[in-house]
Amino acid sequence: MDVVLASNNSGKIREFRQLLADVGFAVLPQSSLGIESVEETGLTFVENALIKARHAARVALRPAIADDSGLEVDCLRGAPGIFSARFANQQASDKDNNSYLLERLTGVPEHERTARYQAVIVYLRHAEDPTPLICQASWEGVIATDCRGDGGFGYDPLFIVAGKNARASELNSVEKNQISHRGRALKQLIAGLKARDLPSHCGN
Ligand code: IMP
Repeated sequence: MDVVLASNNSGKIREFRQLLADVGFAVLPQSSLGIESVEETGLTFVENALIKARHAARVALRPAIADDSGLEVDCLRGAPGIFSARFANQQASDKDNNSYLLERLTGVPEHERTARYQAVIVYLRHAEDPTPLICQASWEGVIATDCRGDGGFGYDPLFIVAGKNARASELNSVEKNQISHRGRALKQLIAGLKARDLPSHCGN
């Protein structure tokens, strides 16, 4: 079965493709169908994920998956949260966002630099689906005082993984996917899809 993915992030597209192939879904990135990104006007990760998936399902006339994710820093009362991609400014690069986060945390001691990544992944059978599959996972850590490591993306060079003496940027992609917010939300999604009534050719 074809499912449209409401994301233009090549790393995410690769991960979704690999994992969803196991449950018989062929992932089509929205850009391959000429679908433009939609404005994320929600106030929560769930709302934004639903907005993106609904838009893609409506235009593509197919089931759709979307994810919305971000970083919550406790001493910033959960910021940047849903604004993680554009924390420093509307066109911010990962480097801009990391520098701005360090600036906002100047002088904050280590024990107050606790944070977590959040990921929400939703699946809609069609644009008006009243029972979307909604999966959510988080990943605990602490924000460092400098950037390190060159793997991952976003805030990974600053994110010290709880229980490990390593930044998220120092894990390889297999290690990261096993424990990360997105990797675990995706596993929930796969379990949810398997539990639903899938057509026989989907391997259930
Ligand atoms: P989006 O879900 O693609 O909108 O991502 C939101 C933003 O959250 C990204 O641009 C990153 O800044 C941040 N983010 C989400 N997940 C991760 C991650 O796994 N590592 C690092 N940054 C992340």
